[in-house]
Amino acid sequence: MRITSCACCAGFNLYSSAAAAPADAGGGAPGAPRSGGTVEPALLEDIAIASRICAMEGVFDAFGHLSLRHPGDPRRFLMSRSKAPALTNADDIMEFDLDCIACDQRGRGMFLERFIHGEIYKVRPDVNSVVHSHSPSVVPFSLVRNQMRAMFHNAAFIAQGVPVFDIREKFGATDMLVGGIEKGRELARALADKSVVLMRAHGSVAVGPSLQHAVFRAVYTEVNAKLQLSATLLGGPIAALDEEEGRLADAVNFASASRPWELWKLKAAGAA
Ligand code: MN
Repeated sequence: MRITSCACCAGFNLYSSAAAAPADAGGGAPGAPRSGGTVEPALLEDIAIASRICAMEGVFDAFGHLSLRHPGDPRRFLMSRSKAPALTNADDIMEFDLDCIACDQRGRGMFLERFIHGEIYKVRPDVNSVVHSHSPSVVPFSLVRNQMRAMFHNAAFIAQGVPVFDIREKFGATDMLVGGIEKGRELARALADKSVVLMRAHGSVAVGPSLQHAVFRAVYTEVNAKLQLSATLLGGPIAALDEEEGRLADAVNFASASRPWELWKLKAAGAA
């Protein structure tokens, strides 16, 4: 099953284990979490393609990662092993429980910041996909008092507000990484019910009800940051979308997220 045309997580209920291939072949090590079940190859491919799209669109560089909640078990999620996202393939996708323990690690490297994903999935049942990046135009907004605002309709989800997570507030001086459950929990708390959270002097996280929506938001958060910088340079007050405009425009975006996905997917395939 592909979720391209799925408008919401309800589409996951269409998931069928028939004709499915294992996300992680074979059983895990003793004591490892049980797998949520087999996943269709096309879905694993979509996760890999999403990583390559984020790289292509300037959201990821050598770093950054995304995940999808397991379609068969909400207490599991799927994510690439640790590698540059532009190089991700379907057979790189691993399965984790929400404490970020691999179901079948088989010696593969894991992203240090996978706790961003697990902790958000724990508290946001509406979220089925998470994108963490250091997309460069966004980072400055994590450093200054100026808040990110929605510059245009495609970034309407930003009008609901973009909180900033400052890891220093709770943890003092750190390596800045969300490298454990406790830090992930605080980040998820900062995200609250929003679609994007910035991470001071680090990056950002975009979430959505599907892979396509989360990628859409990650890409348009980066685009919005560039536009806001341009608007700021022009001077004067910025007539950004207000909350109500954001809500109305986001409903349209929500329904049309498959359009950019199909385009980006085609471009990513050509770039591969
Ligand atoms: Mn990071």
